[in-house]
Amino acid sequence: MEYRKVGKWGLKISEVSLGSWLTFGNQLDLNSTKQVVRYAVENGINFIDTAEAYANGIAEAMLGMVLKEYRREDLVISTKIFWGGDGPNQKGLSRKHLLEGTWNSLKRLQLDYVDILYCHRPDPEVPMEEVVYTMDQILKSGLAFYWGTSEWSAEEIEQACKVAEKMNAMPPVVEQPQYNLIFKKRVEEEYAPIYEKYGIGTTIWSPLASGVLSGKYLEGIPEGSRLDRWPWLRKTMEERGIFQEETLQKLKRIKEIAEGLGVTMAQLSIAWCLRNPHVSSVILGVSSLDQLKENIKAVEVKNLITDEIYSELNSLF
Ligand code: NDP
Repeated sequence: MEYRKVGKWGLKISEVSLGSWLTFGNQLDLNSTKQVVRYAVENGINFIDTAEAYANGIAEAMLGMVLKEYRREDLVISTKIFWGGDGPNQKGLSRKHLLEGTWNSLKRLQLDYVDILYCHRPDPEVPMEEVVYTMDQILKSGLAFYWGTSEWSAEEIEQACKVAEKMNAMPPVVEQPQYNLIFKKRVEEEYAPIYEKYGIGTTIWSPLASGVLSGKYLEGIPEGSRLDRWPWLRKTMEERGIFQEETLQKLKRIKEIAEGLGVTMAQLSIAWCLRNPHVSSVILGVSSLDQLKENIKAVEVKNLITDEIYSELNSLF
């Protein structure tokens, strides 16, 4: 396992990490969550990602129970604030919700601090000064060590960095965007100017596009799979053309390349993400221990991707 710096900053995280969306507290109960976390940590993963919104707080609560087994200094834990509840002040990035959301998350996680606290989405209703000042204060109170953004535009991240400079406050150090073989424009094009300028790292989500890049949907939708369980997600994928013939052909080509290398399509797809030097960590989503055992091997598979294979994969989508 390689440990990568988060952009220009001092924090080091494992190149693959463990996520908890739709899995902890949904497909994984407490016992299986324990097993998955244990396997991850024993195999070099030091970074675990969650959010106040995941399973309405249950994902954080479950992780909190599991983390008791570990020495805090050995782990990097992140959570994300934005969707805390239905009330007018329970969502978004107001000072009130950022502080209350953080306190509530820490209670569920049974932790004194998280290493990274993300603003889970941008909030156009809140002035950037309010967000930056509050995040800086959360950091100064020791409730979090670093802060980041998730699915913010490059322009919004740049604005936050400029405001932080003006206020002598800590800027965001990391963005959490979607990045995979299919959806790559934002990470590769939109953010290109801000990596060097502000030293931003990325912890990327949905490396398998919710499982599509494992090849499991090539012959239809298997029962119990993510797109079977969450119809809204299936609809989103349909709208993005995932089940159109042209896309299916491209996915089949990725599968062929993987088979040629003697690896699985999931491993190759994750390994492709790791080839991007601006990726600090690829967050793995797994609904079973077997998936984790398979996917974590992507760290070895990245060395099998020749320049020729890399450029063919890049040219597909
Ligand atoms: P992926 O795109 O990798 O999808 C993971 C899902 O794909 C699994 O739950 C499983 O679903 C299926 N899968 C995984 N491996 C395999 C395999 N080897 N073979 C077959 N199926 C497989 O990642 P996620 O979308 O889960 O994102 C990863 C993490 O990123 C999340 O857990 C979360 O922490 C974070 N995230 C952040 C977001 C943000 O807005 N900041 C948004 C989304 C995620 P199944 O078995 O049920 O089909």
